[in-house]
Amino acid sequence: NRSDDKKIAVCVIDLDHFKDINDTMGHQAGDFLLTAIGKRLREYVSPDLYVARSGEDEFSVFGVFNQDDDIDEMVVLPLQQAMSESFDVKGQHLTMRISLGVSHFPKDGAEASVLLKNADIALNKAKNQGRGIVYHYSSDLQDDITGRFQLISALRQAIQKDELELFYQPQFSLTKGEANICGAEALIRWFRFDEETQEKVFVSPADFIPLAEESGLIIPIGEWVLETACRQAVVWCQEDHMTIPVAGNISALQFQHPNFVNMVKAALEKTGIDPRYLELELTESVFAGDIEKSISVLQELKELGITLAIDDFGTGYSCLSYLSKFPIDRLKIDQSFIRNALTDSNDASITSTIVTLGHALNLKVIAEGVETLEHQKFLVEQGCDEVQGFRYSRPVPEADFITFIDTYTGELDYFQ
Ligand code: C2E
Ligand code: MG
Ligand code: MG
Repeated sequence: NRSDDKKIAVCVIDLDHFKDINDTMGHQAGDFLLTAIGKRLREYVSPDLYVARSGEDEFSVFGVFNQDDDIDEMVVLPLQQAMSESFDVKGQHLTMRISLGVSHFPKDGAEASVLLKNADIALNKAKNQGRGIVYHYSSDLQDDITGRFQLISALRQAIQKDELELFYQPQFSLTKGEANICGAEALIRWFRFDEETQEKVFVSPADFIPLAEESGLIIPIGEWVLETACRQAVVWCQEDHMTIPVAGNISALQFQHPNFVNMVKAALEKTGIDPRYLELELTESVFAGDIEKSISVLQELKELGITLAIDDFGTGYSCLSYLSKFPIDRLKIDQSFIRNALTDSNDASITSTIVTLGHALNLKVIAEGVETLEHQKFLVEQGCDEVQGFRYSRPVPEADFITFIDTYTGELDYFQ
């Protein structure tokens, strides 16, 4: 219907983390839930709208509206209300969250296929923004996609073009009034050469690591990171600078790759690093899905002789009953807790609880994001073992790191 006083809205709906339900409760429960959700959506939206299941865990709703109808009020709100009550599956109350993408005829396209595609683009944006969110399509999103696409293809060439580099940030142990360097975290840096301006532009890992994961490029990049970091630690030792462990960050996709353990093994062999001097930092999200499988991979890694740390601890979904089964060595308290520990009593309690928990499990506890003396004093009071942060050093290029460790005397005013 192309009459001027009418418009059409197409809304695609994605169930956030539906896969987790299938993985943890089985497909039968998943199917049961999908049926219940379909019925619930139907109940909540107006009867003259169409509701369809358009993908494995995707529904769509569409209908014809008057020009001045408010789509948020007539479609989006009822859909969100439909999800506000939990679902009963196998005696468990499950709360589902949805992400929504909306496109409008005639503004966003003249054909059904284009409207659906654009609603999907809006949905993807909503999911990338952290889920539970609604996005209406606009042509900016198209630019967004083009930008991402270009960034991915530039990243693909970054290794060959030598645009990637590792920076190092020292870690310190705080024992008995001393602050010794006890390790270094390797953090990737991308200085992208911009053809237009002929200048190097810094791209933050927070921006490109997600793209590297999405495109699978994290596999070759991760391999490069690990080898480079190991080779570096060997050099520090051989050149008599300092013998300290180097820590590399591992993303979920890498950890779940079937060849991951072999890749780590190859990096050890190629570089000749003593495995005790390699640490892998894994976030809790790495273990999502099959926990038993994760434990067996962790065990294989431990058998190589390396150490393991959980990064950003406290921000993911921690399955405490499994934590004691993980063969890990360190917990890294997430920097968000340290940042607010002095002003927010909840963050202070979380920090001290993580220290207690870690010690009860015989793990070392390190705080990241330590920026001030006050942070440090607080952490010493809590019995935190180790610290890392801008107070001591930012992540720096390898040459600067060597200067840092060569000139470090431990005489910073640690306990004034
Ligand atoms: P992360 O592993 O938790 O690293 C800590 C981040 O905090 C780093 O950001 C570091 O520069 C920053 N930082 C350190 N001390 C302080 C401080 O005192 N205050 C504040 N505000 N920040 C501090 P960066 O280098 O931008 O890295 C961000 C994230 O990107 C990392 O978080 C890690 O998840 C990821 N990443 C970095 N390098 C790699 C890599 O080689 N592989 C993978 N898979 N991920 C990486
Ligand atoms: Mg880290
Ligand atoms: Mg961290």
